[in-house]
Amino acid sequence: MRRTKDEISKMRRAGRVVAEMHDRTRSAARPGVTTADLDRVAREVLERRGARSNFLNYHGFPGVICTSPNDMIVHGIPGSYRLEEGDIISIDCGAIIEGYHGDAAFTMPVGEVEPEALKLIEVTEESLRKGIEQMVDGHRLSDIGHAVQTVAEAAGYSVVREYVGHGIGTAMHEEPQVPNYGEPGKGPKLRVGMVFAVEPMVNMGGPGTRLLDDGWAVVTADGSLSAHAEHSIAITDNGPEVLTIPEN
Ligand code: MG
Ligand code: MG
Repeated sequence: MRRTKDEISKMRRAGRVVAEMHDRTRSAARPGVTTADLDRVAREVLERRGARSNFLNYHGFPGVICTSPNDMIVHGIPGSYRLEEGDIISIDCGAIIEGYHGDAAFTMPVGEVEPEALKLIEVTEESLRKGIEQMVDGHRLSDIGHAVQTVAEAAGYSVVREYVGHGIGTAMHEEPQVPNYGEPGKGPKLRVGMVFAVEPMVNMGGPGTRLLDDGWAVVTADGSLSAHAEHSIAITDNGPEVLTIPEN
């Protein structure tokens, strides 16, 4: 699906709301705060901006954000979990403005954390940056995942296979799927107007995953730490434009 400039400008507005949710939840996340508290902070942003949530009630999901600490990879339900010094936590946020969606996630340290955990976060962010760089007209879809995988594996980490990035527009999850792995030069050609949510999930140990009993939260099979970083990005005439950032 290729979006018009008008559609992308609506997605930019949704993206700015998501960026504000990131900013507010990042400031609020400290030892002693629950993940339900973070969800409330994010709800306030949505209300203030007149945006709707794309996460709430998605197949019955009860929050407006996903909160995934430590070995939890993605899709953690906000609740009674209290952040502890030394945790890392992934916070995934989404918003809808005039029917257009934004979706982005980050992982942050809670207080002082082990250097290894900080490195995992940095490598995950770097893998996202390298993936985004591939979002140029004429490249192939798998160039994105190949770039992500190369960065993660060079650091000795692994990328999750079972959960992937996605097209985004008038729905949160559209075709195509955007894996975080693969050989370069495969799949459909990237074209101006395409918008993807690219979202590396990087495990310190093996790539295996396990779904918890709540039917949502996904953890690493080996209990190792995992980090997640995501942006919604449009391919423009001038290369990739990250939509889920603050207005400059
Ligand atoms: Mg997301
Ligand atoms: Mg996503």
